[in-house]
Amino acid sequence: MERRRFLQLAAVAGLGAVASPGDLFAQYRFLAPVKVANPLLDYPNRDWERIYRDIYRTDRTFTFLCAPNDTHNCLLRGFVKNNVMVRIEPTYGYGKAADLGGHRASARWDPRCCQKGLVLGRRLYGDRRVKGAFVRKGFKEWVEGGFPRDPATGRAPAELMKRGWDSFVKVSFEEAYALHAKALDNIVRAYSGEPGARYLRAQGYDPAMVDAVEGAGVRTTKFRGGMAKLGATRIVGTYRFANMMALLDAHVRGVAPAQAKGGGAWYSYSWHTDLPPGHPMVHGDQTSDFELFDAENANLLLVWGMNWITTKMPDSHWMTEARLRGTKVVVVTVEYSATANKGDEVIVIRPGTDPAFALGLAQVIMTERLYDASFVKRFTDLPRLVRLDTLAPLMARDVFAGHRDAPLANWTSVLPKGAPVPPAPEQNGMRIPEDLQPLFGDFVMWDARGNRPVAVARDQLGDRFAATGLDPALEGTFEVPLADGTTVQARPVFDLTRQYLAETWTPAATAKVTWAPAEAIVALARDIARQGGKTLFAVGMGPNQFFNNDLKDRAIFLVAALTGSIGKMGGNVGSYAGNYRLSLFAGVPRYAAEDPFNVQMAPAGPVTVRNYQRYESLHYYAAGEVIHREGAKQFTEGPHVPTPTKSIWLTNSNSQIANTKYHYNVVFNTLPRQECVAINEWWWSGSCEYADIVYGVDSWMELKYPDMTASNTNPFLQVFPRTPLRRNFPTVSDLDTYAGVAAELAKLTGDERFRRYWAFVADNRVEVYLQRILDGSAPTRGYDFRDLEALAAQGIPALMNSRTYPRTFSWEQVHESKPWYTKTGRLEFYRGEPEFLEAGENLVVYREPVDSTFYDPNVLVARPHPAIRPTTPEQYGFARTKRDWSARQGRNVIVTPDELLGTQHPLLPAGYAAVFHTPKYRHGSHTTPIDTDI
Ligand code: SF4
Repeated sequence: MERRRFLQLAAVAGLGAVASPGDLFAQYRFLAPVKVANPLLDYPNRDWERIYRDIYRTDRTFTFLCAPNDTHNCLLRGFVKNNVMVRIEPTYGYGKAADLGGHRASARWDPRCCQKGLVLGRRLYGDRRVKGAFVRKGFKEWVEGGFPRDPATGRAPAELMKRGWDSFVKVSFEEAYALHAKALDNIVRAYSGEPGARYLRAQGYDPAMVDAVEGAGVRTTKFRGGMAKLGATRIVGTYRFANMMALLDAHVRGVAPAQAKGGGAWYSYSWHTDLPPGHPMVHGDQTSDFELFDAENANLLLVWGMNWITTKMPDSHWMTEARLRGTKVVVVTVEYSATANKGDEVIVIRPGTDPAFALGLAQVIMTERLYDASFVKRFTDLPRLVRLDTLAPLMARDVFAGHRDAPLANWTSVLPKGAPVPPAPEQNGMRIPEDLQPLFGDFVMWDARGNRPVAVARDQLGDRFAATGLDPALEGTFEVPLADGTTVQARPVFDLTRQYLAETWTPAATAKVTWAPAEAIVALARDIARQGGKTLFAVGMGPNQFFNNDLKDRAIFLVAALTGSIGKMGGNVGSYAGNYRLSLFAGVPRYAAEDPFNVQMAPAGPVTVRNYQRYESLHYYAAGEVIHREGAKQFTEGPHVPTPTKSIWLTNSNSQIANTKYHYNVVFNTLPRQECVAINEWWWSGSCEYADIVYGVDSWMELKYPDMTASNTNPFLQVFPRTPLRRNFPTVSDLDTYAGVAAELAKLTGDERFRRYWAFVADNRVEVYLQRILDGSAPTRGYDFRDLEALAAQGIPALMNSRTYPRTFSWEQVHESKPWYTKTGRLEFYRGEPEFLEAGENLVVYREPVDSTFYDPNVLVARPHPAIRPTTPEQYGFARTKRDWSARQGRNVIVTPDELLGTQHPLLPAGYAAVFHTPKYRHGSHTTPIDTDI
């Protein structure tokens, strides 16, 4: 109908009384309905459907693995037409996965994909693909000009180092490799020995950082494969290259292999705020976690700072299905997220106050005596005595004259000095170096039954402790006679903790600090205690972004341990941020740290592992290549001290330059101090803009060498199969770039060992390296990589050979009474090391966030307590009123909850109106909001 005619009709209809509906529709001619008795026989011509069939018809399909750092990893099927991938679907092969024992995965893992994976074609053919190799013009001139340097400082000419403002020159990959190799060689030479140290001092680096170079310029070359587990050979290869740099050091300094040093290796886990540092403080291992399908084994699922629905896309159904099966879901969050609205209950807290909230829960559980005393006594250090004079834990050798520590025999053995460490799959239990053995000695509890101090060995936990018949006191102050004839007062960790919580973290105080209603705190604590150890604490990355995140995890573990929710199916603590669990591939050192002086050329021959790399945290780099000093105190010490950075090679990472916190300072002040920045990318990222060399590499859909990965959230061993999809652009494998630069170093030095180090890349036999990793990893030993790749090509992964499905951290400890990886063998809630005592964090306490707050930053919140006696700013040599970025990180000032609420962040009087929690935009999807209005 014409629009004019329609309007006329509408106008008439609007008059109502003038025209009836019959009048209006009389002008239409109604068609009689078609009657078809049997549509299969009589259906009209369907030729028109052919056009759709033609559009969607494809020539072939292939399988590839999608594996960003989202912890999922999905084998996907690509559909190809005219050599163009036009569509992606899930493979539906997950339900067919099996382990070596024949255990099968549930069909409920299928379909495995998400909307992002299904549109990867947009990335594959996107206009930001890096097509070839590029070198920055000024960098090229610097290399080709023979590396001119300022004679006094050694600095490269500033006009040639205009990174980000300069243009790029497209070169062949071979030319890029040659320029890169020459730059590495020159940088290592320039910064070696005393002349190199003089340059670094003249450039203004902290003397401690210059000392950390130890005269080896190779230590100023830094390498980082971002989230390395996402490519056991491709990305870990960056670290293998760092190890190989020991060959260059040997040439430059003329040292023997035993004295040679490798490059610096930046690690990702802590940098991405994925690492929950409170975990190793409690149980001694990197991270405690459970695979997400454990959700339905829980009575209560506490989703804490984790946006499960949004960030765990193919595994979000485990949470919603658990709820259908009767699991209660409580979401602790800072905003009304997609996960919050799936919970039975939602508790919204002030960002960064997670440790206080957990301590508030623990307070209710302790005060109302809702804790599982048996679990506490058998599995934790809470009954352990702490002496009140020094605040050190009492050791049996201090108390009992002539005491000799019990041998370490429970799943533990002592590694004699100089003895080789056996390969991981042959280590049935822990190995403690002989030198460290005294630290693992017997400790002391107060036996309530015998009313006396007793020695307890590290081996004695769980059933082994129960067998001793001891009944340790959890509360009280005891006069303990010492072996030297003196007497000391001592209290159990439980009692010291109880006092702190009872006096500081009442529900009312917790509510004021965290904004959670006091009734919700009490109700949740009682709910957790009611579950009989079947509460799952699924903790996300959001709260990890606050400076107090170690205390957050120590406090959450305290709640879990008090209620026995550890090491059980449906009862455990997990941290979910990034794909960190490289420990599933314990054989990786056979690849990443193969001795470059002794390369194994026989595919199945034994590999000599020798680590020449030096690990460094990226935080110092991001903070401007500084270490932390304040007053007379040097906070950054020992192996934490980074070296100056002169060369960078990044693969699979955009988080260090483009997406870094403190981005402006990194780009304008820190990056100009580097002389060579190389990036491997398949998508032109912000980091590429600031690089000297950009290598365009293959996407997952174009891999010409296979690779392998796995995850912390699911049980699958995943292979990236080689794909038949032709390369769409001039790209190479990441592995080709390492081999290419190594070959150029071989030419420069005349040392063929550089080339040999990558021989199986050059021969297109990368599976040799992958098989070595499989053979060296307990959960994968027994698999043949060729079988895994053949299955992956059909869309079917394998299962990790885990002890349990779901894999359950602490299973052996809780069910078999094996020790945790701690000094006491127990879950530890007291840290008696000097740095913890100095910080006032020997007990699990609360500190206000260092930045994300409108109160006094980083203050300790506690009422006066006999065991919280930190070193004060005055003792460090600076005023407590000093609150700049440096001072507030090391400032130990104690306030009560009410005093805290009366304080102000130093920027508030200047008119600031919002707290900016994180400038990393990607964290906006990770369970924490970007800002909070004041
Ligand atoms: S969930 Fe992650 S791995 Fe799976 S398809 Fe989506 S983006 Fe890829």
